[in-house]
Amino acid sequence: MKGRVTKSTGSWYTIREDSGKMYQARIRGKFRLSNIQHTNPIAVGDFVDFEIDKDEAAVITKIHERKNYIIRKSVNLSKKTHIIASNIDRAFLVVTVDNPKTSFGFIDRFLVTAEAYHIPVTLVFNKMDVYDEYLMEEVEFYQKTYERIGYETIQISAQTGFNIDQLKEKLKDITSLVSGHSGVGKSTLMNILNPNLQLKTSVVSDFNQKGQHTTTFAEMYEWPFGGFCIDTPGIKEFGLVEMDKYEIQNYFPEIHEIRSNCKFDNCLHLNEPKCAVQDAVEKGEISPTRYENYIGFLEEINENTFS
Ligand code: GDP
Ligand code: ZN
Repeated sequence: MKGRVTKSTGSWYTIREDSGKMYQARIRGKFRLSNIQHTNPIAVGDFVDFEIDKDEAAVITKIHERKNYIIRKSVNLSKKTHIIASNIDRAFLVVTVDNPKTSFGFIDRFLVTAEAYHIPVTLVFNKMDVYDEYLMEEVEFYQKTYERIGYETIQISAQTGFNIDQLKEKLKDITSLVSGHSGVGKSTLMNILNPNLQLKTSVVSDFNQKGQHTTTFAEMYEWPFGGFCIDTPGIKEFGLVEMDKYEIQNYFPEIHEIRSNCKFDNCLHLNEPKCAVQDAVEKGEISPTRYENYIGFLEEINENTFS
């Protein structure tokens, strides 16, 4: 049988069979042993094969290759990472320009991380019902900043239902991650997208053999209109993963696109001569906020490296 893991407690896995039927399954020891990099052999979002053994228990026999996955550093001291969720088609970042105002820094950090994970992002501008003319312009400015570098955007109001059908079209039949700064209306949005959703998801904790707290788990829900949503308490930590200072420019599409025009192969676009990126910033082809945040992330990486 084939299915998808929708929930995991660390020892039991809930599997949604392709027909929609749910099973509680275990794994065989070999999965644990074969896992060197990660603390958990199977994650929410994984496509698996499973069988019913002679005791009528479901047992996972195979994991299909993951298209992508998001991780978190393990709390214990091992170098292992914890896989939060896998096979995510798109992340939706809910953004507001007032009450609270989502900063460019917050958005860029999210985008860099998503790029590193190979997850496309849509920016969802919420609370469109309350913005005055000035704030409308602010939204348009945000949209222009991100659309010009290839990110999809949409304006909605979770309160009035404005553009919710268009948003549903985008969420339909894919696996998505909905994220956002607290207060932007994520819960309100989830509630109107899925009235049956139990929003106050209890944070399931797991303790490893030494009794240390290891992690919180993600859960996957099915939208009533088709498709899946991954809900994870850990998504607040969707921050910069460990990156090399030369790597970070790969996750700024507008920098990545022109970096081969810089004089130096190892250009970091700070104050090197004949730098195509600095030129583009001067000409206004790269948004100043994007460039500032690129530099900010570089500094952050440098600090971490020397500490
Ligand atoms: P969360 O922290 O992202 O889950 O945000 P909530 O869903 O709890 O919403 C925070 C506040 O914003 C609440 O008072 C909501 O009623 C309000 N809110 C959410 N969506 C909208 C919207 O589209 N328009 C307006 N005016 N208020 C909204
Ligand atoms: Zn350069």
